[in-house]
Amino acid sequence: MDKRLRWFDEGAPKLRQVLDQLGLGDVLPAGQDFYACPCCLVAYPREAVSDDRLSIEDVPPKSVGGRPLLLTCKQCNNNAGSVFDSHAATRAEAEDFMRGRVTGRALRMTSHVDGIPLRGTAQWTDRGIEFVGMPERNKPEVQAAHLEALDAYVESESPRPNHSFTVHTRFSEARARISWIRAAYLAAFAALGWGYIFRGVMDPYRKQLQQPDASIVPTYILRDPNAPPEERRVLLVDRPDELRSVAVVMGEHTVFLPSLFQPMTCGELAEAFASQRTDGDQLSVNLDGKEIPWPKRAMYFLD
Ligand SMILES: [Zn+2]
Repeated sequence: MDKRLRWFDEGAPKLRQVLDQLGLGDVLPAGQDFYACPCCLVAYPREAVSDDRLSIEDVPPKSVGGRPLLLTCKQCNNNAGSVFDSHAATRAEAEDFMRGRVTGRALRMTSHVDGIPLRGTAQWTDRGIEFVGMPERNKPEVQAAHLEALDAYVESESPRPNHSFTVHTRFSEARARISWIRAAYLAAFAALGWGYIFRGVMDPYRKQLQQPDASIVPTYILRDPNAPPEERRVLLVDRPDELRSVAVVMGEHTVFLPSLFQPMTCGELAEAFASQRTDGDQLSVNLDGKEIPWPKRAMYFLD
């Protein structure tokens, strides 16, 4: 509660100041403080903290290693969790498994020995894949046949048992992407402030959040599987000039948003990046610019 009130009291005067600068000072009733949810721009009074309409949001989502960063409205926060972030988390889990990362999380899986299935869960441990069958999801006779076939292999000491795993996971790639774009948008807001997200070029990002299934924001996301998962950076890219942007680095994901000065639209930005992309989806040029510290809370740098 204390933290939310503090964050409200830091953000509200900045919001009014920026609206005044934009000549929009009269959109908020006078004599009272308001904080707008950065995702839907609905303005909330201070009571919205005590009645829980404003909530603390983790950026990136907690399920992919994020930390509390700013206030969004409860509706946007909850909605993003189920509509976008669950997809990003499921994708991350599946990728971690494929890369053999020991994460302590188990995935639903079917083990096949000689084509005989056994449903269960699997996770990586220091000793390799640990598979646990789920008796309630297997017919006893099939389970017995599976274990018998497995025993036969162990006894025969065959070097190449006919054994495979099928991972059962379901996520939407498009929605996982939007989850990362949303996280980048929020981090950029926390770093740069209201003045950044009120620019016209940022409107499509909010529209995309309201319309999850529409393709509104083409955005280049750089993936670097070797980046440390805890890496967090914001880079104001100014070289090469044609890729001017705000780069938000969250572990292996780097999302590129419109720059501070003479910003390109998301469409122009995506085209500019597409022309600098290699076949492997990496960039053929080095990016340079000013690095600003990852915000610990909303800093309103531009405001
Ligand atoms: Zn909202």
